[in-house]
Amino acid sequence: MKKILFVTSEAHPLIKTGGLADVSGSLPKAFAELSQDVRLIMPNYQALNLSGDVHTVFSLRADNRQINILETRLPDSSIPVWLVDCPEFYNFPGNPYTDGQGNPWPNNAERFSLFCRIAVICAMDKIGQNWKADIVHCNDWQTGLVPALLSLEKDRPATVFTVHNLAYQGLFPASRMVTLNIPGQLWNPDGLEFHNLLSFIKGGLAFADCITTVSPTYAQEIQTSAFGYGLEGLLRYRNNALVGIINGIDTDQWNPETDGYIPQRFNVDSLHDKTRNKTELQQRMQLPVNDSIPVLGLISRLVEQKGIDMVLDCLPEMLSMDMQFVLLGSGDKVVEQRLQTWAEAHPDKIAVTLGYDESLAHLIEAGADIFLMPSRFEPCGLNQMYSQRYGTIPIVRKTGGLADTVIDTSWETLANGSASGIVFNDANSGSLLEAIKRTLLLYRNTEQWRKMQANAMCKDFTWRRSAEEYLRLYESIS
Ligand code: ADP
Repeated sequence: MKKILFVTSEAHPLIKTGGLADVSGSLPKAFAELSQDVRLIMPNYQALNLSGDVHTVFSLRADNRQINILETRLPDSSIPVWLVDCPEFYNFPGNPYTDGQGNPWPNNAERFSLFCRIAVICAMDKIGQNWKADIVHCNDWQTGLVPALLSLEKDRPATVFTVHNLAYQGLFPASRMVTLNIPGQLWNPDGLEFHNLLSFIKGGLAFADCITTVSPTYAQEIQTSAFGYGLEGLLRYRNNALVGIINGIDTDQWNPETDGYIPQRFNVDSLHDKTRNKTELQQRMQLPVNDSIPVLGLISRLVEQKGIDMVLDCLPEMLSMDMQFVLLGSGDKVVEQRLQTWAEAHPDKIAVTLGYDESLAHLIEAGADIFLMPSRFEPCGLNQMYSQRYGTIPIVRKTGGLADTVIDTSWETLANGSASGIVFNDANSGSLLEAIKRTLLLYRNTEQWRKMQANAMCKDFTWRRSAEEYLRLYESIS
């Protein structure tokens, strides 16, 4: 049994801005089910959805500030969560990383360096809990200083750093090295320095015993200049310590047989029941109710990564097709505006909901026939897996985790029972449009479509599978 400290800046259902929260809410539970001794540590944001007991386990001064370590449980589990409580850094409303306009909080370097410092103190059991970690598993740039700072400790735990998205790196002016009081020996081109900037993510990439990323294809892609953001050289150098482990999904929350958000539950043997969800979706989005018209769904942060510009370019042609398009998302204000304009002009074909809405996300997964995910890059991606589980055939670009989890439909894959979606190669609207046309043709062949749905719904996307892979990795480094 390993003592695992899982260091993260968000965890569902306490707080969530994206896929990292899903991983942080689920992987520790899978470890616990495999009899591991796992804890989480995260900042005590004001916006946390706390329930149950929260109590102080330790108080200390760090960075000249009074800090409390609070302890609670990950909801619906017995997994302890340590909350780093520093009111001036975390006790204000809103998103953990950005203000209402999407700009990073000006003191993010201070906020997350303090978080990292406290995580190190807790990992080394300098808070007297009689619990010293064997493995410290860090996630994304917000936790990047942890492996760097731990590298300076004697008898330290082994460290793993997982890249969920290399696009976010935590880059700050070099002068912060001094103001954040980071030990000078960490400042060199093989350490935290990145073109004379302080790079939090390099703390993980350069110092962790092992680097993981969330799909095998993305692990290869980030070693190339097209995906590496200038870090590809370091990643190639650390190639032997770099592995890709595909995320699982929360199969309790995303289960069409038990989903409490949808009006009609269903499984692979009662696929006709999916129709009621489609009707509900069409009603809720004020689209004409019509069972035979294919509904395309999309749920996403509206950022360039997700290829939403390609979708916008396809809309004029899509309007001439027999289909309805339902989108839920938020992000880039210009994109939001353009989408809204399209929806207002064509309310019988396009419905757009701007904002974040968990229940509508479930209804789209359950009610749509087809799911669009044309990402330019996608470290792992969750929605293409949710879609498959709900018999909603995904159209994805061949990149990262999309390439690893969706099997394109061809005569061969139909024959061998693996076809579970549509995969296209090039990141341009022409290729996406071809893929949509190809999918709509397949949709008309009901028998084939049912087979694809069944293939998709029977795939194993459990966290247990991923957790076992992580445990083998932990074993190899500790
Ligand atoms: P990323 O982490 O890059 O945003 P993922 O596909 O890995 O992409 O994870 C996104 C998660 O956030 C999924 O659980 C998805 O359903 C959810 N999500 C994204 N946007 C919305 C939204 N507007 N409303 C509800 N859920 C959303």
